[in-house]
Amino acid sequence: KIKVRFAPSPTGNLHVGGARTALFNWLYARKVGGKFVLRIEDTDTARSTRESEEKMKADLAWLGLNWDEGPDVGGPNGPYRQSERAEIYKSYVDKLVAAGHAYPCFCTDAELEAMKAEAEAKKLPPIYRGKWSSASKEEVEAEMAKGTPYCYRFRVPANKEIGINDIVRGQVTWNTDNLGDFVVLRSNGLPVYNFCVAIDDALMGISHVLRAEEHLPNTLRQLLVYEALGFTPPVFGHMSLILAPDKSKLSKRHGATSVGDFKQQGYLAPAMVNYLSLLGWNDGTEKEIYTVDELTQAFDLQRITKSAAVFDKVKLSWMNGQHLRALPEEELLSRIADALVAGGVLADASSAFAAAMASLVKGSVDMLGDAAAQVPALLGYPLAETVQSEEFKPIQEDNFLEVAAAVLAAHDSGDLAAAVAGGHDTFKKWINGVGKAQKRKGKRLFMPMRVALTGRMQGPDVGELLGALAQESGSDVVDRSSL
Ligand code: GLU
Repeated sequence: KIKVRFAPSPTGNLHVGGARTALFNWLYARKVGGKFVLRIEDTDTARSTRESEEKMKADLAWLGLNWDEGPDVGGPNGPYRQSERAEIYKSYVDKLVAAGHAYPCFCTDAELEAMKAEAEAKKLPPIYRGKWSSASKEEVEAEMAKGTPYCYRFRVPANKEIGINDIVRGQVTWNTDNLGDFVVLRSNGLPVYNFCVAIDDALMGISHVLRAEEHLPNTLRQLLVYEALGFTPPVFGHMSLILAPDKSKLSKRHGATSVGDFKQQGYLAPAMVNYLSLLGWNDGTEKEIYTVDELTQAFDLQRITKSAAVFDKVKLSWMNGQHLRALPEEELLSRIADALVAGGVLADASSAFAAAMASLVKGSVDMLGDAAAQVPALLGYPLAETVQSEEFKPIQEDNFLEVAAAVLAAHDSGDLAAAVAGGHDTFKKWINGVGKAQKRKGKRLFMPMRVALTGRMQGPDVGELLGALAQESGSDVVDRSSL
């Protein structure tokens, strides 16, 4: 039975790295019909907050990464917050102690410091060499009777080669001689992170642990715990880092790195999922645009790449544009119209003019939030003076200004609107009429029209543009003077 998990520590926001980890686990579970578990790793009580947990769950939900077991939804192996599993951890410490795999250690901080300094001086690895690993029952009992504080340490077997066959990294092997007897339960009763993870993964029946490369060093400790308790270890896959375009570690100084930030900036969840899916995975083809369903079909653990992935916002925005334009036309236009209102340019998202403007910009908008910025360039009219400006001197030959004046006049008088309202043929007739009267056609006819109405030489198709602008009613644009 395939069961994977995403196990965030609720100490901040859900970053793209964590979201990528969650996504790969989720895709794998969905692909093979397995289970996806959400486990909250809040043993670091000083840094964990419920607020962070709630925010992370909201971000996962926004991405569409629903969990089959976890906080809120429950499941057969709960509770799913480590802070609620203290008794479970304690019972497994007792099992380890009973089997001789763990022992109480009464060393004080000062003793541990001295041990460390001595190891350093002798150039030995800084590992625990205290006496309590071999203390007699009597010595331990005497110390307990005195009430000396103690922790529990895991007894690491000497000189053992332990390895995994990592899905991403291949064979990885450790020698236990570089690992000292590590603490599993602190003197304050709090279990240690690596111990909790091993217990939880085992008890929750996790079959595959897919996580970030930075957790690879933890794996040895977790394997030892598995082995000591007779649990079968899961299959591991450690995914490579996500880097910034300058190849340094992706961090705050590169701008937005949390899912919440991207959500707020207006990225579409399916675009975000698509982009994250390609950070360290590909299907072996050049295909880049995937729906979530296509991803769940195509996802393959064997194709997770070993090299670091680069997080490129330019690419993400481009991808967002692809997903935006893949929306059903009506939804696309209404989303852009909403963005035009939110961006402060238009007053009413449901007006015909809003739909017409949305249609004009849809081809060049990657981010909904950028839509509003494109509108001023389309609403630059009336431009009787601008048309005569230096900028347009080179194209002002012959009757350029007359054509511009004619289209402006038709716009102002409502003739243009009437022609547009009459439908395609009427509108075409009107354009042809202007062309005939001015003895211009094609680009020579459209350029002065375009310049007259927008003050630019580039932009959407002139017919479409005229049609859209003709639909404006007095109150459509929030503040024309600011354009
Ligand atoms: N709680 C760890 C983290 O937030 C994840 C540990 C794991 O996946 O094993 O990075």
